[in-house]
Amino acid sequence: MCSRCLKKYAIREFLALPHVPAVDDTDPKRNYGYLPVCTCGSVFIRDKWRMDAHLTLADHRVCVSTISLELNHGFGLGEDQWYETIIFLEESVASLGPQWRYRTQEEAERAHTEIVKNLQAGRYKFSWEDYGGAEKHLNLEVELLRA
Ligand SMILES: [Zn+2]
Repeated sequence: MCSRCLKKYAIREFLALPHVPAVDDTDPKRNYGYLPVCTCGSVFIRDKWRMDAHLTLADHRVCVSTISLELNHGFGLGEDQWYETIIFLEESVASLGPQWRYRTQEEAERAHTEIVKNLQAGRYKFSWEDYGGAEKHLNLEVELLRA
């Protein structure tokens, strides 16, 4: 689904869309592929809807990232899941925290705002598992209390 115009595509329609280079670079070593363009002009992946909030929790920089998944991660089983929030440590891209999924952009926006508000108010528990090297897993429980 295009996160700008909300048009949903069947796989064959999606694959038949025109494509543009993923990066604006003519060097073939740096040009790693092509991205489909919606009929509204929005480029999938590159132009997807997102909200980011950067915070410091327990002396660690985290990013609360809420995005359009563009592909329904409900896969026809249960509720649609078009949007997702992930909290990750900015010091390590491998360190993902909790994850929430939503049906609509409105739900995603509301939840993102609520998660950020609860984190800023200190309503969370924070710890991590350290697997050695760069491998750490953020364990973060956010109380999703309606303030
Ligand atoms: Zn579109």
